[in-house]
Amino acid sequence: MTACRVCGSHIAEASYEASAPALTTTMAFVDIPTLAFVCDECGHAQSGDLPDIKAFYDTSYQISMESDDHDQIFAIGADNQPIYRTDHQAAVSLRLLDLPQGATILDYGAAKSTTLRKMHKARPDLRPHVFDVSADYRPAWQGWVAPEDQASYTIPAEWVGRFQAIMSHFVIEHVPEPVAFLKALHDLLAPEGRLLLSMPDVAANPGDMAVADHLNHFSIPSFKRAFSLAGFRVDTIDTEVFPGAFFVIAKRADDSVPLTIDRAEIATATDKAREICAFWKQAAIRLNEAAKEFAGRRAAIYGSGFYGSWICSRVESDVALSVFLDQNPNLQGTSHFGKPVIAPATLADDVDVVFVGLNPLKARAAIAQQPSLHRPGLNLVWIDG
Ligand SMILES: [Zn+2]
Repeated sequence: MTACRVCGSHIAEASYEASAPALTTTMAFVDIPTLAFVCDECGHAQSGDLPDIKAFYDTSYQISMESDDHDQIFAIGADNQPIYRTDHQAAVSLRLLDLPQGATILDYGAAKSTTLRKMHKARPDLRPHVFDVSADYRPAWQGWVAPEDQASYTIPAEWVGRFQAIMSHFVIEHVPEPVAFLKALHDLLAPEGRLLLSMPDVAANPGDMAVADHLNHFSIPSFKRAFSLAGFRVDTIDTEVFPGAFFVIAKRADDSVPLTIDRAEIATATDKAREICAFWKQAAIRLNEAAKEFAGRRAAIYGSGFYGSWICSRVESDVALSVFLDQNPNLQGTSHFGKPVIAPATLADDVDVVFVGLNPLKARAAIAQQPSLHRPGLNLVWIDG
């Protein structure tokens, strides 16, 4: 039994459970089982707690630290060139926040804050502030954020009520108490201040359900509930600008915000969450079968992100894994779990089987565009059957 991180209701049992180790967004294994719970009261889904969470984010969790160019691909553009996450996030944030001239803005849980740096470049009138729960990112803030506008570990008291806007990209899914987190942001905003929050949409990217450090898997009704409880009015919910994610604009309210509970919307969300839990159970069975079927054969994994890493953990003791294939030019030439990462077009002829480690909702379309994967005799294994 556990308590819902949003509404506090008791959740009797896990809807998905897999034995340790669990895999994180940074492709690290932690020695805990993977658990997913679904709340029927508010439509939230959540994972089990992460041990020693403060130390994890302070010292072990580093996104994009290697270089400025190491950035996650958000999509492949019409010209077949990758579009990077922070470029897209910066453009979308400027448009959705529609900031007034000279606005004071905080990037909360900023990491290197590449998104805000790009926004500031486009809008030099903005006054950027950054905060993170680690000091590792401070070098990346120098030169464009005033020293007094940077904070690590603790928010300065004088920041309360300061900001016309706060944005927090892909942070709330990591937070054990999301309502308390939103209340803290509420207090940092000036009256009528606006908050932009982005978070994964597990329904659009089922992999999110099995990520150990994503403690929250929000649905529309569950984040609406969290915002109301924290004193926000939701203005805009955008599910289109960033496939696989919600971008939400909410305004600080200073009166009480009524809770509107839409039972049909909640039921749709819980059905979806349980369907995804069932998908993961099936995927694990399927991978075990495929690992036995292709035991000893030369194999590659397409995708060196979460899905590919998860597949690797399931099959590497059975098959002869030679490479990871990845479209991201910044990853090509690196290694992942000791195997080279190469461009899909350069796959060797003697590979017998490719395990497709992509979002199953998009995998078939992506693989259809890779001629090297359609040669006779090459087997493709899909995690969704
Ligand atoms: Zn709940």
